Amino acid sequence: MTSAEYFKISPTNLKILKEQAIDWALSHGLVIRTNSNSTSTTVHAPISLFPSPFPKKEFEFVLELQPIFNLLFHKLSNDHEFIEKVIGELTDVDDFVGKLYDIYSTVRKEGITQQISLGLHRSDYILHLTPNSTEVHIQQVEFNTISSSFSSLSTLTSELHKYLLESTKYFDVSPTLKLDALPKNEAMISLPKGIAKAHQLYGSESAVVLMIVQPVERNAFDQRWIEYTLMNNHKIHLMRKTLFEVQREGKLDKDTKALIIDNKEISVAYFRSGYGPNDHPTEKEWNARLLIERSKAIKCPTVAYQLVGAKKVQQVLAVPGVLERYVTNPSDVTKLRSCFAGLYPLDSSLEGEAAAKLALEHPERFVMKPQREGGGNNIYTKDIPQALTRMTLLERSSYILMDLIQPPMMGNIVVREGEVIQGEMISELGIYGIFIGGNNEDEDVVINELGGHLLRTKGRETNEGGVATGYSVIDSPLLI
Ligand code: ADP
Ligand code: MG
Ligand code: MG
Repeated sequence: MTSAEYFKISPTNLKILKEQAIDWALSHGLVIRTNSNSTSTTVHAPISLFPSPFPKKEFEFVLELQPIFNLLFHKLSNDHEFIEKVIGELTDVDDFVGKLYDIYSTVRKEGITQQISLGLHRSDYILHLTPNSTEVHIQQVEFNTISSSFSSLSTLTSELHKYLLESTKYFDVSPTLKLDALPKNEAMISLPKGIAKAHQLYGSESAVVLMIVQPVERNAFDQRWIEYTLMNNHKIHLMRKTLFEVQREGKLDKDTKALIIDNKEISVAYFRSGYGPNDHPTEKEWNARLLIERSKAIKCPTVAYQLVGAKKVQQVLAVPGVLERYVTNPSDVTKLRSCFAGLYPLDSSLEGEAAAKLALEHPERFVMKPQREGGGNNIYTKDIPQALTRMTLLERSSYILMDLIQPPMMGNIVVREGEVIQGEMISELGIYGIFIGGNNEDEDVVINELGGHLLRTKGRETNEGGVATGYSVIDSPLLI
């Protein structure tokens, strides 16, 4: 089956489908702010009208990988020697990573006050189509340890597709569109559940959760749903503050190191900001991060967790022998490795020089990635040679090189700000992972769970993938 079948829909039925979808989205909070300046107007989130076909086997395979990845990243975050070696090398070539590393080192020397950490991760994948065949193979794009977004809007989009199927039968355009092919998606409740568990472990009835947010945020409703779910399902309050506000209003209790803001003790500090240089325009924001890291609050994530989410770490994990140091079961090692695309350093090592040479000769095969999050930072294919030639060796070392994953095309119809776009699309699947553990490696794991999924879909010609950055729409998988 190809979802080009979706294009069989008549213009009249497409109009009905679009109106149904938009009204459902507006009624159910599947929305984003109209623009960054608006505080009171919203628009439906960019969404696909149909779920995109996705191979069931590959979907189930990555669900199986998630707890293994969760534990792996927890162990990495506790491995000081690894962080010192891998991240330490980046501090001269990347100021942002350098600043984070300084906080990590400072707090480590002072002594960690909170042994428990909370991970709300998302591992992202793209299907790779073997050239000249129909065989697909799922490949990891990256593993996010900070500010993994769209869990709430993703569940809502899964529900939207279910509603559209039930209400319109999708006008019988494809026999594959069946309810039992739409997997349940618990992302909306699983992240708040993780936060609630961490809050409970912190052990103070009167404490509240802190969500660290950006001053202007179009995707605020994805975050608000976490706050409302925390309140509705767990009776826990959540306070939103920017890093600037945390530094202005926050303090540590001298004796207990509890983080106090607005006279309230913070149980969990959950970051939806702080993942890039733009979130730290001045030293004040860095001071806020240091204050939080020093505190007794449970962090999601700790600076160590954020550091091991770096693309450099992903590249190092692909080096033969490294995974084996953390993943004890050999068949788990094989499973994880089977989803790694080719990853190469771009530093002054022999491998780095060879990779740079290869990228100059065959740029169409690669993407270059810096140690950044949030989309819009990569250098793709034909832009690589010019970028490489322009860079000093030091600048080049702050990037990694990765094989370009080339997915199969799927026809779909999407709607963005009321406008319908129809065409060949490609999708990226994200799997959420919820982890709570102590700093005693795998001996004190409290929670290691799956947390639902996200499918993002974009036009075939677009390189980048963010929804908030305007490249893709929120979709849901139709398992085939
Ligand atoms: P970020 O942390 O900024 O989200 P990503 O590694 O996810 O960085 O890259 C951003 C986007 O670039 C991805 O969502 C994906 O669409 C695209 N991308 C990244 N790596 C690859 C790759 N190896 N092959 C194809 N596309 C990629
Ligand atoms: Mg990322
Ligand atoms: Mg990404």
